[in-house]
Amino acid sequence: MRTLIFSDVHGNIEALNAVLKFTKKHKIDRYVCLGDLVGYGASPNETIQKIQGLKPLVVIRGNHDKAVTDIEAVETFNPVAAAAIAWTKSHITKKNLEFLESLPRGPLTVENDFVICHGAPFDEDFYIFGEFDADEAFDYMKLPLGFFGHTHFPVIYTKRDEGVECQFLAGPINLLKFEKGLSYLINPGSVGQPRDRNPRAAFAIYDHDLRQVRFHRVEYEVAEAQKKIRAAGLPAALADRLTHGL
Ligand code: ZN
Repeated sequence: MRTLIFSDVHGNIEALNAVLKFTKKHKIDRYVCLGDLVGYGASPNETIQKIQGLKPLVVIRGNHDKAVTDIEAVETFNPVAAAAIAWTKSHITKKNLEFLESLPRGPLTVENDFVICHGAPFDEDFYIFGEFDADEAFDYMKLPLGFFGHTHFPVIYTKRDEGVECQFLAGPINLLKFEKGLSYLINPGSVGQPRDRNPRAAFAIYDHDLRQVRFHRVEYEVAEAQKKIRAAGLPAALADRLTHGL
């Protein structure tokens, strides 16, 4: 059983298409999306429809999905993010808006195999940014394996007797093999707006039978995504940052 774990696509259809093209060769049995389908990027409708078409699919909402559906006020958003939410609201179709509204809040347990959340298991909007945050998150985990998004940084937190260990992921491919008795909290990184100075789309493939997670990066048509952002009248910074993965 192989599961594609992906997060924070943020309306970047070029990046999502590149990920799905890559995973075609990898026999994916299940798709799991950790939220933030929209916001920032210029292709919210295409992104939602593409994700909806993945089967079988488990998907939870992110803070940008909530903001577009008015469940959460955008007061906590910076001006650039808020402008992108306003733009998305005025361009999303009714059907796609209803889909976003229907998304469940995390944490969610997937087939008694692992836990997923957007931010943290105790608060969907919380950013896990270090060992202390992760340690608290482990307390709320009902299973030894969890996946989260929201920070846009691919990272592995491992709970050991001595404490929590943090491992940032760099390089084209990285592999985590589970050790018996340990717990893991994993961020696959962001598909549509990586922030770890690597512009390539980030995602992970979890192999249940091999007890491992493989982390991937793929190149995509950054220029095309940028062109659409600029043509849409979205803040230019949202296009520029994609060049550098910031
Ligand atoms: Zn996000």
